[in-house]
Amino acid sequence: MAAERTNTIVVGGGQAGVAMSEHLLDCGVPHIVLERHRIAERWRTERWDSLVANGPAWHDRFPGMEFPSDPNGFPSKDEVADYFAAYAAMLGAPIRCGVEVTRVERAKGSSHFRVETGAGLFEAENIVAATGPFQVPIVPDLVPAEAGVNQLHSSAYRNPVQLPEGAVMIVGAGSSGTQIADELLRAGRRVYLSIGPHGRPPRSYRGRDFCWWLGVLGKWDIESTGPDMEHVTIAVSGTRGGQTIDFRRLAAEGMVLVGRTKTYDAGILTFAPDLADNIARGDANYLSLLDEADAYVADNGLDLPREEEARLIGPVPDCVANPVLELDLHEAGITSIIWATGYSADYSWLRLDAFGDKGRPRHLRGVSTTEPGLYFLGLPWQSRRGSSFIWGVWHDAKFVADRIATHHKYMAYHAAANQEGPSSSTRITAAE
Ligand SMILES: Cc1cc2nc3c(=O)[nH]c(=O)nc-3n(C[C@H](O)[C@H](O)[C@H](O)COP(=O)(O)OP(=O)(O)OC[C@H]3O[C@@H](n4cnc5c(N)ncnc54)[C@H](O)[C@@H]3O)c2cc1C
Repeated sequence: MAAERTNTIVVGGGQAGVAMSEHLLDCGVPHIVLERHRIAERWRTERWDSLVANGPAWHDRFPGMEFPSDPNGFPSKDEVADYFAAYAAMLGAPIRCGVEVTRVERAKGSSHFRVETGAGLFEAENIVAATGPFQVPIVPDLVPAEAGVNQLHSSAYRNPVQLPEGAVMIVGAGSSGTQIADELLRAGRRVYLSIGPHGRPPRSYRGRDFCWWLGVLGKWDIESTGPDMEHVTIAVSGTRGGQTIDFRRLAAEGMVLVGRTKTYDAGILTFAPDLADNIARGDANYLSLLDEADAYVADNGLDLPREEEARLIGPVPDCVANPVLELDLHEAGITSIIWATGYSADYSWLRLDAFGDKGRPRHLRGVSTTEPGLYFLGLPWQSRRGSSFIWGVWHDAKFVADRIATHHKYMAYHAAANQEGPSSSTRITAAE
C-alpha cells in the first residue's frame, strides 16, 4: 500500500497537538495530527470525575479563544476537553482521530520518516511527538498484590463510591493526591496522606490569583536547566471555587498526615521522619511567594488590598508533631491505597536514537539533538516551568513550528534551485 505523504506528522491530539497544528497552519507547513482516541482524550477519560482546571479560565487557555464560562471560574475537565475540540474546529486543524501510531523509523535510503499506524502507512519529513507529559502511571513496587488492599493510581481514581468501604491511604501530595484526599475526607472517609517535598502557592493573594503572581514574577518562565531537570510538585486546587492547600487545615479536619512512604512488610507501611520538614518547607515556599508579591506591589506602586491574614500559619497539628512512622494497614482499617505518584513517558513507538540514559528525550527546547527532523512537545520543563501546562505548551509549539518552517523554506529553496538555477530565489519569497 502506498504511504500517504505530508511534511510533518504530529503524534497526539491533546492540547500540545492542537497548539502545534495552529502554529504549523500559521506557517503554511502541510501536516497531519494523528490521535489514537479523541481530541484531548486524557482530560475526558483519564482524570477523576470532579476534576476542574487548576488555573482560572482566563489563564488556563490558548490566546486564540476564551472559555465560554466565567473567566474567573475553574472549568471542569469536560469543559477543558470541549474547549480543545472547539479550538481545533475553529482552526480547521487536520486532526485524524482514532489513528494510533505504532511505529516511527527512518524510511530506508531516505531522511524521511516512515510512520506505521492502525490506518495505514504515512511518510513525513518531520515528526512531532506530542503524546503528553503524563503518559504511564508510576506505581512504586512496594505493596504486593497479595497484601489484600485495593491499589490504584490517581489516573484510575474516579470518585469515592468507586472505593470499597474503609480508610484510604493516599501516597503523594501534589495537586492530584491532595485534591483526591480532600474529596475522600469530605465524603466521610478516614484519610491518610503521605507528604513529600512540595510547593504550595496561595490560591490568591491581595486580590490576584497565584497564576497571575507566577506570571508577573516571571516564575512560569523560569528556564529549564536541561532534559534531566527534576521537578518539585506543587499542590494547588481549583475545587469549590479555588482554595489554598493548607495541610494544617486538612489535619484539623481529621486527615492524618504522614511523611514519605518508605517500605512495606507484612502489612506494615513505614514512613520517613520527614513530615515536619516537608510541611515547614512548603510553608516557607508559601510565605516566600507572599514576600515576593509584596515587593512587586511596592516596586510597581500597585494599589492592591493588603492581606495580612494570609500570613497567619496555624498551630502544628499533632500528627505533624508526633508523626506516625509505622502503620498496620489492617488495624488502621485501610482498604485502599491511591498512588498519586506521577507518570513516566512511553516512546516505545519511536524507533530512533533519540533518548538518553534515563530514557528521556535528548533535546533542546523540543528539538531532538540526535535525530534531525524529530521534535518533542509538551514535555515537563521542555523550555520552562510552564511547558507542560495549557498556556505554556502553546509558546513551545510556536518555537517548534518556527524551526520546522525555517527548515521547510530551506528545502523549498533547494528544490527550486535544482529545477531552475540561481534565479529561483524568488520562489522562496513566494513560499514565505
Ligand atoms: C490530573 C491532572 C490535572 C491537570 N490540570 C491542569 C490544569 O488545570 N491546567 C494546566 O494547564 N495543566 C494541567 N495539567 C497538565 C497538562 O495540561 C495535561 O497533562 C495535558 O493533558 C497535557 O496535554 P498534552 O497534549 O501535552 O498531552 P495529553 O493530554 O496526554 O495528549 C496526548 C495525546 O496523545 C495521544 N497519543 C498517545 N500516544 C499515541 C500514539 N501512539 N498514537 C496516536 N496518539 C497517541 C493520547 O491519546 C492523547 O490524547 C494536568 C495534568 C494532570 C495529570
